Amino acid sequence: MKGILRKCVKCGRYTIKQDKCPYCGSKVVVPHPPRFSPEDKYRKYRYLAKKIARIIPE
Ligand SMILES: [Zn+2]
Repeated sequence: MKGILRKCVKCGRYTIKQDKCPYCGSKVVVPHPPRFSPEDKYRKYRYLAKKIARIIPE
């Protein structure tokens, strides 16, 4: 089922329609997932924050 989803360029909704958005009729594109998810990024920051907190106690 990979690659069947399309994302509307205008309203940002996901659809299985391959030609146009069923909600607003705009063009749809293949959504490209980011290489690093925001969740992973925040996890890294949390890890760094913990590490720094240990070095510099309040
Ligand atoms: Zn749309």
